[in-house]
Amino acid sequence: MSADPARILLSRRAFLGATAAVVAGGLAGCTKEAARTPAAAPVEPIATPRPPAPSARQAPVVEQRGPAFTVVDRSAWAERAPGAKINPMGEVTRITVHHTGEYGKWAELPDMQVVRQIENYHRMNTPHKRAWACIGYHFLVGRDGRIYEGRPARFQGAHTSGANANNLGISVIGDFMRREPSERQLRALAAFLDDRRAFYKVGKARVFGHRDLSPSECPGDALYAWLRRWKAAS
Ligand SMILES: [Zn+2]
Repeated sequence: MSADPARILLSRRAFLGATAAVVAGGLAGCTKEAARTPAAAPVEPIATPRPPAPSARQAPVVEQRGPAFTVVDRSAWAERAPGAKINPMGEVTRITVHHTGEYGKWAELPDMQVVRQIENYHRMNTPHKRAWACIGYHFLVGRDGRIYEGRPARFQGAHTSGANANNLGISVIGDFMRREPSERQLRALAAFLDDRRAFYKVGKARVFGHRDLSPSECPGDALYAWLRRWKAAS
């Protein structure tokens, strides 16, 4: 994410103004499905030796990537830097698509609040003893059509049990078991997938749905069907 010419400063206050509300519903990231299948819960690897400490909070930026999509930098929403127990990514050789699977009232929260809540959930030690270094996904595609940076891509993710190595995790915000993401979200997802594939030189055959790599319903039947069509298209 470093070679982008145009960076537009946004007010951090504009993003952080709304405090998190306690609402009914569900939120766990796509590991909600995995939780129903205990063996599938992804495990955050413990890194040795310790990687360099993440740099202090940077100025919040949004990266404009032409008309197709916009990337919101992690510094625009994150309260804390990633923790120390985290592995470097190394070379990215595959990309995995997820959905976040919120339901109930959670599904009505603004995208940035969803991202922040998933980060908090993944960092919690209870109830699933995760205590991950930070949110497990590298990017999240918002309902607003923006791409939210999650875990910095220089670190290995925690999104696909047994298959996190060299794997960029992109999660689409929402529950796409029965319905597809909006046109706006799908346009952003497709453009971002193409951008990252070009950046990392990853062929379409190496773009997976979570369920291709480990037992999970993720990314939902409807989004998975879209992904298969997208992969089949030239
Ligand atoms: Zn998933």
